[in-house]
Amino acid sequence: MNSKLAKLNLYLPLFPVTSVGSFPKPDWLISARVDFKNDKIDRAKLVELEKKATDEWIEYQDKAGIDIIVDGEMYRGDMVAYFAELLPGFAKGGLVRSYGNRFYNKPIINDEIKWLGPMTLGWWRYAQSKTKRPVKGMLTGPYTIMDWSFNEYYPDRRAAAMALAECIRREVEALIDAGCKVIQIDEPAVSVRPDEIDIAIETMNVITEGQNAYFITHICYGAFEKIYPKMLEIPVDNIDLEMSNSDLDMLELFKKHPFTKDISFGVVDVHSHLLEPVEVIENRIIKATEYIPKEQIWVDPDCGLKTRTIEESKAKLDNIMSAVKNLRQKLP
Ligand SMILES: [Zn+2]
Repeated sequence: MNSKLAKLNLYLPLFPVTSVGSFPKPDWLISARVDFKNDKIDRAKLVELEKKATDEWIEYQDKAGIDIIVDGEMYRGDMVAYFAELLPGFAKGGLVRSYGNRFYNKPIINDEIKWLGPMTLGWWRYAQSKTKRPVKGMLTGPYTIMDWSFNEYYPDRRAAAMALAECIRREVEALIDAGCKVIQIDEPAVSVRPDEIDIAIETMNVITEGQNAYFITHICYGAFEKIYPKMLEIPVDNIDLEMSNSDLDMLELFKKHPFTKDISFGVVDVHSHLLEPVEVIENRIIKATEYIPKEQIWVDPDCGLKTRTIEESKAKLDNIMSAVKNLRQKLP
């Protein structure tokens, strides 16, 4: 096991299981969010329902035996807008198409970005109070927030990302002070612009240097072959990668350059309704052990499950748990 985990008194079984972050919201919460926008319910009522939905997801994960819990992000819409709305320096932008038919309000950086106080701590505390298992702190990385925003204030993209990195570092410090031991910094945009990976490395260093927590970064599928092995220089303990929707083709890259960190290995495709059978998931994990020492392997879905239904998400996670339990017996 990673020595950092032992130092943090986190003793995890073989193939620790976690989730990337988001879960689907129940229908009653989706309509409550619309009602809130239309002033039909107040914020207190909305938060009450967000807490109820969070409770249900934590109870499910606890019962399923998932090792590192996430809060499911019931209170978030978009992973970048959530932070842009809480940090001064941003204005709300117009609707922009990101992929497929997904539209989002691309935030505009038009002033100095500052951290005024915790943005995720309250939800982390709430979630952690509901379970004895560790809850992951979940933050969007500075590179991705910068990349998914318009910059009209800072001289260049690096400067904007560095200003954001200072804010995310403060948020990390607040989480650690409250007892959070595992923190994930999502950087899905990193695989899209391989020429800017140095900015992602430099900003992650601002966030993680000297901090007493186990850090994970999640990167979605993109030009992996162009950022590997360079991606191993991102100063985190664990890189969480979307592996399954590309048929594990990235494993070939690990043959040339060994994967030197822990990995959160995506074993189910989040873009597919298809439920991967337990045996398929077991085989994917076994395949991973041929390229990476098994002590370095964590297991999770490829990406956030919010694109699936609640039933599909639970079925995928249940099958992951069954596969991992079988392998813990077979590969002691
Ligand atoms: Zn992803």
